[in-house]
Amino acid sequence: MTAARLTLDLDALAANYAALRAQALAAEVAPVVKADAYGIGAGPVARRLWAEGARTFYVARVAEGERLRGDLGPERTADVLVLDGCPDGAAERLAAAGLTPVLNSLAQVEAYARGAPGGPCALHVDTGMNRLGLRPEEARSLAQSDRLRGLDLRWVLSHLSRASEQDRHASSAQAARLAEIAVLFPDARVSLCNSAGTFLDQDLHFDQVRPGISLYGGGPFDRPDPRLRPVATLTAPVLQLRTARPGEAVGYGAAFVAPRTLRVAIVAAGYADGALRSLTGGGYAFVEGASRPLLGRVSMDLIAVDVSDAPAVRPGTEVELWGPNLPIDEVAAAAGTIALELLVRAGARGERVYVGAEG
Ligand SMILES: *Cc1c(COP(=O)(O)O)cnc(C)c1O
Repeated sequence: MTAARLTLDLDALAANYAALRAQALAAEVAPVVKADAYGIGAGPVARRLWAEGARTFYVARVAEGERLRGDLGPERTADVLVLDGCPDGAAERLAAAGLTPVLNSLAQVEAYARGAPGGPCALHVDTGMNRLGLRPEEARSLAQSDRLRGLDLRWVLSHLSRASEQDRHASSAQAARLAEIAVLFPDARVSLCNSAGTFLDQDLHFDQVRPGISLYGGGPFDRPDPRLRPVATLTAPVLQLRTARPGEAVGYGAAFVAPRTLRVAIVAAGYADGALRSLTGGGYAFVEGASRPLLGRVSMDLIAVDVSDAPAVRPGTEVELWGPNLPIDEVAAAAGTIALELLVRAGARGERVYVGAEG
């Protein structure tokens, strides 16, 4: 190992998919593989989950859907839904790639019906987030109109805004609003839950759940969950060992000054590899059996780790930045963010290695 490496465990991914299926009971588990499957790699993720039984996948962008079709190939048939819906001029592209748009506005419904007559679609209804989706009253007027007649409406969905807080009241109120709308579209199946909602309450599941982060090992409530296995591990080798004498600074801006003589390992991972700069002052690396503090600022290519108590550390010793010993939820919290952003930013430069069956 000569540089930072992201190791991605496809068997752990399959185990997390099984855990989510156990949680979802009768509801379908439709993996969310947007943003290159949160940085894990949409191709390997979708192929393995297809082998495990997944037949519906969600992406955010039209281009992600086109790429996923290529990744799945002609023999792996699956529904691919695009959360952005039908942006201006996208109807023909959606049809050509066999993608199902999640229509987000009356204007999108019209544009898609014009550009892809008879095409499959889903409808996003906003039940309390003011992000994407028709307002409930717009959905009602759509149900009473003939504007959907030329389309094949398969799904009605909404999205939870507060499920990760474990505050069931907010999520239950959204579910009640969705149920009121869903009865107006009796032929469509219904979907509401992300990862957190899936673990929150069975009453919220409807026909299908849409987990992302928990497939990739992040806990549903922004903290580690024993039902899930880590999928991504970021490791890097020690490049050099140094001695910082009392009063000497380490790294940019002299942000850390050694209070006593310290043995410092310089590790080949920085924010270009996914070791977030905001870990400065609060982060750890796992090396030689223990978590040891990062010293000074995280720079683009390098970090410094206090290995004063680890005399066995040598150039080449492998250091974990997150993974089985440093859960992504805890590392993300130390960096002031969430596991989703941590994963999405990882592996910008580093080597990616897949372990476990591809499926
Ligand atoms: C990203 C997303 C999800 C998955 O969310 P997680 O919190 O990662 O499980 C589900 N539904 C929609 C609409 C999304 O945008």
